[in-house]
Amino acid sequence: MKPPQRMSHVFVEEIPTTMEQGVIYVSIECATAIHRCACGCGQEVVTPLTPTDWRLIFDGESVSLRPSIGNWSFPCRSHYFIDEGLIEWAGAMSDADINRGRMIDRRSKSVYFNKATTVKAPQVDSAEKQLQQREESSNTSKRSSLWAALKCWWRA
Ligand SMILES: [Zn+2]
Repeated sequence: MKPPQRMSHVFVEEIPTTMEQGVIYVSIECATAIHRCACGCGQEVVTPLTPTDWRLIFDGESVSLRPSIGNWSFPCRSHYFIDEGLIEWAGAMSDADINRGRMIDRRSKSVYFNKATTVKAPQVDSAEKQLQQREESSNTSKRSSLWAALKCWWRA
């Protein structure tokens, strides 16, 4: 087992172009956190913050990420938690674990997106004008969040 390591955090507006080891960069605007793999291999680990990906917990002093970080697409295959600013090493994952994890991820995503589409249904019943206004405003917010995402990723 490796000794516990500290992971400090920085809140940034945009994804930085240079990143230090041992720092997690959190962009609320991009809803993304990014850090260099805790094993020291230098790979950049991108964790999108969404209800079906990672959740970031900021307690005022340190950050935690849930669920664990499983870097099985990197040669190091490291697996760890970021918990209150500390790296906690988790067991190595077997291929079977990885496949199961991917399957669960896909399933929870499809449940989430199905829910998201059914939520829209009541709008069809509301007055036409209201509906139009609501659609216009939701289009605008969709467009601006897309712009934010593009801006975030172009700089990455
Ligand atoms: Zn690594």
